[in-house]
Amino acid sequence: MRKNRSPLHGEYILKTVINRGAVCYPTMKISLNIARDDSIKAVLSALDNGEKIFIVHQMDSYETEPTKDDIYDFGVIATIEAVNELPLVNSYQLVARCEARAEIKKFRIENGIAYSNVLVLEDVINDEYDEEIALAKLWDFAERFMKTGNDYIFPNSRRLKKINSLSYVVDFMISHVIKSNPEKLELLKNYDAIDRCYSFQKSFIKAEASKELDQDLFEGSLFVIKEEERKILLREKLRIIQNELYEGSPERKDADFDSSDAEDDDNYYDKIMKKPMPATVREKLLKEVTKLNKMHFGSAEANVLSSYLDVCLELPWDEATEDSLDVKKAREILDKQHYGLKKVKERIIEYLSVKLLNDSASGQIICLVGAPGVGKTSIASSVAEAMGKKFARVSLGGVRDEAEIRGHRKTYVGSMPGRIINAIINVGVNNPLILLDELDKMSSDFRGDPASALLEVLDGEQNCTFRDHYVEMPFDLSKCFFIATANTLSTVPKPLLDRMEIIELESYTDVEKLQIAKRHLVPKQMKKHGLKKTQISFTDGAIKKIIESFTREAGVRNLEREIASVLRKCAKIIVDGETDKIKITNSNVAEFLDIPEITPETVFAKDMVGCVNGLAWTSVGGELMKIEAVSMDGSGKLELTGSLGAVMKESAMAALSYIRKHSAEFGIDSSFSSKKDIHIHVPEGAVPKDGPSAGIAITTALISELTGKKIRRDVAMTGEITLTGRVLPIGGLKEKTMAAYKAGVVRVILPADNKKDILKLDDFIKEKLEFKYVSDYSEVISLAFAERIWK
Ligand code: ADP
Repeated sequence: MRKNRSPLHGEYILKTVINRGAVCYPTMKISLNIARDDSIKAVLSALDNGEKIFIVHQMDSYETEPTKDDIYDFGVIATIEAVNELPLVNSYQLVARCEARAEIKKFRIENGIAYSNVLVLEDVINDEYDEEIALAKLWDFAERFMKTGNDYIFPNSRRLKKINSLSYVVDFMISHVIKSNPEKLELLKNYDAIDRCYSFQKSFIKAEASKELDQDLFEGSLFVIKEEERKILLREKLRIIQNELYEGSPERKDADFDSSDAEDDDNYYDKIMKKPMPATVREKLLKEVTKLNKMHFGSAEANVLSSYLDVCLELPWDEATEDSLDVKKAREILDKQHYGLKKVKERIIEYLSVKLLNDSASGQIICLVGAPGVGKTSIASSVAEAMGKKFARVSLGGVRDEAEIRGHRKTYVGSMPGRIINAIINVGVNNPLILLDELDKMSSDFRGDPASALLEVLDGEQNCTFRDHYVEMPFDLSKCFFIATANTLSTVPKPLLDRMEIIELESYTDVEKLQIAKRHLVPKQMKKHGLKKTQISFTDGAIKKIIESFTREAGVRNLEREIASVLRKCAKIIVDGETDKIKITNSNVAEFLDIPEITPETVFAKDMVGCVNGLAWTSVGGELMKIEAVSMDGSGKLELTGSLGAVMKESAMAALSYIRKHSAEFGIDSSFSSKKDIHIHVPEGAVPKDGPSAGIAITTALISELTGKKIRRDVAMTGEITLTGRVLPIGGLKEKTMAAYKAGVVRVILPADNKKDILKLDDFIKEKLEFKYVSDYSEVISLAFAERIWK
């Protein structure tokens, strides 16, 4: 019996962690979650004092407060490498290297910390064996198995082979191959290295029992299998074969042994060397592979690191498409794919021309603003096509965390790169057109401001070295072309707005919608549904009916959806063989739609007191907003109900003050403010409304109610009022006037400052409506309360 002195040979008093998870075995690098107070204390105190720690396994893993009787009397001595706090789960992660097996001589708990007096004994090697030969045989044995099916490959085998300690090598192999806790515990207390080799071989062969057992594989080995053990193994093999024959799936002894990780080490090296990338990136990734090699594979840390390497290898560091910026071609593409939008296309072409002349001058980012379905996304995708770029969409709706833009640090399991890097990985090139969708729906909270991260993404000066927290290395975003979209600018953070060139997309009129449907939506959807022109035809009347009676929107998204649903029904009819030609007309289109007809809002049935037509701009376009006011005996209370947002409430207060000041002029008893309660109500309608444009309408309703004079039912008005009675200009004129026309309004009262915008309206609207301009509220009275002109 020869004794090999372990470098740690001797007696120690060590702070102790009681472990209930997988057995920690010498040579292993472990990552343990420490949640029990006594263990946390022990680890933190050992870390502070630079001491080693002793890890011992508890017998019953359900025991929450183990004492001396509940633990094994042997364990491992380990060197702490890192202790990370995991505040979310109230615990710590201990990363440590297990070094030597040791026996417990004494165990005590003091001030909530467990201490063990431990003894590290010498490893013994049976005198019959020469350590060098035994080691060579061990390798021989392991390698034969590695070759059989590649199921087992030891990471770092090249380096491992240089180690000439049988005890270390066999422990390393055991720690990788043997998964069962009882087996590992048995081997942990065994100081005889040869014995351990023997057990290791047995486990190995047992794990391989499902495979073709080649006698030669272990016949020449040092640790010859005894006859009865061979029989046990063969029986085991037979059982597995029977299982396979009669029950289908074999029981995999090595199910939790993920060998692919081990193979990956070399793969990573090859992949990194083959993939085009900057030298600094390659250097860093190679370093990470070296780190991975040192880890216990299958451990949480190794998984994190290999996911990281996967992401970095997917990133297109050097892959790019060739830009082909041709303004003429761009114009053709934009015209071909989109009807109308003349101004928008013109602005985009101007922008691209400047970019062509001076690439670096185009620091501004285009931001397309407009209601849903007006074509922002599809214009952006046409721009990508025109520039020869790939198209990636990053949705910012609901993003409230900086990390969603910039990624999470990779140290946490499940961490990921941010949305920008993800989009780039998805398109696979480093110079795509990236659409930052719904910029206005982004918000910020305690987790950081995504807008500031986005600023860095968009800033031409900084984005050539954009640093994603996950990727850790700078990635060049300067070759990407960014286009942002938003429904409204009011919620877009100001610093972002400063960086952008705003291009507004207006809502479509019904005439435009009809043309878009005829030229684009119907042909597109027919193709998608596999229908031919000879089979289906839409009359203009049918499309108009869908626009007017089945959709209410500023864009054409629902229109497209309803056309698709008509075509789906047609496809079914044709496939059923009922007919081979269908004509969709004004009168039959409703049969093809599953949704109820929308009855449009119309003006009041007769002139009334206290009821006025306001005009609102909402996300679905313009809407007639009926405002009602009543007054009752009371004490001067003002009540506001319905869909009045904060801004409209303020308008109501201003209107009231204005009326009080001018009560004599309007013939109103000035004591109304103390003797009457007033209630203003704005029925909700389809969409909640808010905005600074209901002032003059609310004032008119109140004056009417307080004077008892009727308001004309065919007049609508929009404009904000100040305390002094000035009427302020409004937005959304096109949508509001369209809504007024549809509702049967004849006269529209508008702020004088909006007169210039009238030129932009469609001719037929200008013909059908009478526009009256006011700059002071007093002018409204004669226009709203005059003789009826309704016929
Ligand atoms: P947004 O991004 O503004 O919400 P989308 O780009 O998704 O709107 O447009 C919705 C649908 O309407 C798309 O299929 C798009 O092609 C179509 N569309 C919108 N405007 C036009 C237009 N002017 N010409 C042709 N198709 C259009």
